[in-house]
Amino acid sequence: MHRYFFRPLDSPKIQTHHFAPLALRIARVLLRSKELQMALETRNFETLALHGGSYRTDPATGAVAVPIYQTTSFQFENADHASRLFALEQLGPIYTRIGNPTQEAFETRLAALEGGVAALAVASGQTASAFAILNIAQAGDNIVSSTDLYGGTWTLFSQTLKQFGIETRFVDPADPENFRRATDAKTRAYFGETLPNPKLNVFPIKEVADIGRSLGVPLILDNTASPLIARPFEHGAAVVVYSTTKYIGGHGTAIGGAIVDGGNFDWAAHADRFPLLNKPDEAYHGAIWTEAAKPLGPIAYILRARVKLLRDLGASIAPQNAFQFIQGLETLPLRIRQHNENAVEVANFLAKQASVSNVIFPGLQSGESKRRADAYLKGGYGGLVGFELKGGVEAGRWFIDALKLFYHVANIGDARSLAIHPASTTHQQLTADEQLAAGVTPGYVRLSVGIEHPDDILADLGQALAQADAGARQAA
Ligand code: PLP
Repeated sequence: MHRYFFRPLDSPKIQTHHFAPLALRIARVLLRSKELQMALETRNFETLALHGGSYRTDPATGAVAVPIYQTTSFQFENADHASRLFALEQLGPIYTRIGNPTQEAFETRLAALEGGVAALAVASGQTASAFAILNIAQAGDNIVSSTDLYGGTWTLFSQTLKQFGIETRFVDPADPENFRRATDAKTRAYFGETLPNPKLNVFPIKEVADIGRSLGVPLILDNTASPLIARPFEHGAAVVVYSTTKYIGGHGTAIGGAIVDGGNFDWAAHADRFPLLNKPDEAYHGAIWTEAAKPLGPIAYILRARVKLLRDLGASIAPQNAFQFIQGLETLPLRIRQHNENAVEVANFLAKQASVSNVIFPGLQSGESKRRADAYLKGGYGGLVGFELKGGVEAGRWFIDALKLFYHVANIGDARSLAIHPASTTHQQLTADEQLAAGVTPGYVRLSVGIEHPDDILADLGQALAQADAGARQAA
């Protein structure tokens, strides 16, 4: 018997006629992790990364590491067991698309680390962002999004959500009031990235969350580039999304994503804005999600995401990948500390180089950008560093080709150091003006600083800068 699913709950009396069996079963699972978390009574990342969430040992074997439940289905013991599962007299896994013990161990641990009430792991960061919006917006609705976005999120919002009839109003987050100005009765969410690259200007979390709360609009933040460093829920964000592909995985081995519900937004208080959570759901015998979740805790949002979007669209995370992310979480606090320290060394080193005209790093910013960086990033400024080469596009290409330790990839957040020259790769299809608006100058290079010894990182950058310099001079 699997403790994760069958541990008896002293749950409050639930109006089952309002609430479909599957949803109730899953809600109990989500709740249980919260109970276990409370039993742990620590807020220290280092401990939560190893012990947080619902998993302690495997109930079947005593395995300490979370087993990979590589199975689509879970057999019912007999007809009576099956009917008890469906009658909610007993809780248990049924089918991996909607839930699996390996996924659950990852979800509950991530929720514990983030300070949320529950999480949903999905197939990729893209799915996490898509589900986060589709869970509360439908055709005719709009969202207001920061312009400082990962390119994939930009096209998801500007193209694919448009196909679903959902409009995205892009605004510059430099002035938080832009979010208020773009809001109307059909606005369902604000969206931003905590630490967006290439500009690396930290998002005004509290400012925008406060505007949203005054209007009944939740802030959804993509915290991919700043796990543990930024704590969006503490500043009023309602939902956090991750591409776990990056720092959370940390080893460049798996694609995945997650949505974490802060449990701090009153969806029922704004019933007109959120009909998907406050009106009867035909797919679940007329269940009203905010009502149904009431006896269980503030989990209406994440519950609907699982039992509607994951069930119907099916972008579930593979158990093998959930396992990889659990391994990643275990060392996340240590890795983040090293990324932070190495990035500071790299930024300071680059700032002293004659061939570098500008270093883009939150710790080296000034004015309002620096204030935001210090207000919202704690313990470091993250592992991303941008810089501009005086030699422009040519120097950028020379520099990238000369790197020996750094990998030349489009990814970020790996334990290894990574680099890319956006003007000749990710942003090459944009016009020069569009590149500039995105913060990509011709000589801009983005580094995702890894956790190697800093001396070796600096040595590689130094030799590549020298070669870029020589190459650019030779070409001129
Ligand atoms: N969000 C950010 C900030 C990203 O950098 C990425 C990927 O680069 C994504 C979301 C999308 O994540 P995934 O590639 O896991 O779908």
